[in-house]
Amino acid sequence: MKNPLLLVGSFIICCCGNSQNSSTDYPEVDTDAINMELAAVTYAETITTNELKEYLYTFAGDDFEGRDTGEPGQKKAAEYLKKQYKRMGIPSPLGGDDYFQEIPASFFRGGIKSSENVLAFIEGTEKPDEIVVISAHYDHVGVDGNGGVFNGADDDGSGTVSILEIAQGFVKAKKDGLGPKRSILFLHVTGEEKGLYGSKYYTENPVFPLANTVTDLNIDMIGRIDKNHEEKDKNNYVYLIGSDRLSTELHDISEKMNSIHTKLDLDYTYNAENDPNRFYFRSDHYNFAKHNIPIIFYFNGVHEDYHKQTDTADKIEYDLMAKRAKLVFYTAWEVANRKDRIVVDGIGKE
Ligand SMILES: [Zn+2]
Repeated sequence: MKNPLLLVGSFIICCCGNSQNSSTDYPEVDTDAINMELAAVTYAETITTNELKEYLYTFAGDDFEGRDTGEPGQKKAAEYLKKQYKRMGIPSPLGGDDYFQEIPASFFRGGIKSSENVLAFIEGTEKPDEIVVISAHYDHVGVDGNGGVFNGADDDGSGTVSILEIAQGFVKAKKDGLGPKRSILFLHVTGEEKGLYGSKYYTENPVFPLANTVTDLNIDMIGRIDKNHEEKDKNNYVYLIGSDRLSTELHDISEKMNSIHTKLDLDYTYNAENDPNRFYFRSDHYNFAKHNIPIIFYFNGVHEDYHKQTDTADKIEYDLMAKRAKLVFYTAWEVANRKDRIVVDGIGKE
């Protein structure tokens, strides 16, 4: 944090200066930045409860057989995501019709078959080489011996379909001539449940250099309410993990976007250094963080249906999920459009 006394001092000097000088000394107003901030609201509103619901009832339906890594259900889910991006007119960074980053079976342990990450991309208008990643895993744990499906609606159907809605917001903006200044990569990773394989593979075989990767905003479970927040006055929340660890600026942007727009209670309980759950290390963002890329992990906490066949689409809190998805959208929008790349000032402090 900056020293508050210094801030007060410079404010006084500034005021005296203005009273003596002509009005031409006022700082220039960045109208472009203001217009972009206003536009963010328009495109955030394209994230709707109904669309999230429509996507999730399909994506977490029995047809996708629990999306087990390397199995037919996961392949079906990958095709479904590709179809949505094509429909929205969002290209793949891999070129042509290929939206899949193939991961060979040899990369996995335990007899898992080859699998794929799904990638879609909106190129930045001013700094196309700087990449903002929005990620979520789309695999889950499959079926049991009796054919019972683990639908994984919250884990992580919620993150997956939120990305589709966020992507829609950005592509609509782009079509209106208000595309992001930095590029955005929508990264649907596989193999998370088996050991964060998809994000590990991506960060070891990045499509864009990690040095140019500005942040990873990772969503894993944002559709439910955990035990700590069941009471009515407590359920407007999301856990944020890692936001301040590598970039104080990223944390400040996230806080600011929330206070202006989404007004969720940001719960940092699981961000504590000594948190016994160690969630910071337990989802895909960690593979970015270990390369010193600032991350935020968005999470609703665990609940009674976690990794059970009862994690189904009918139990999702769609209004709350839309609000959480909007927070990710606003944060990505600001990081992608602001003048300077966010600073990385937390290396070694973790
Ligand atoms: Zn998960």
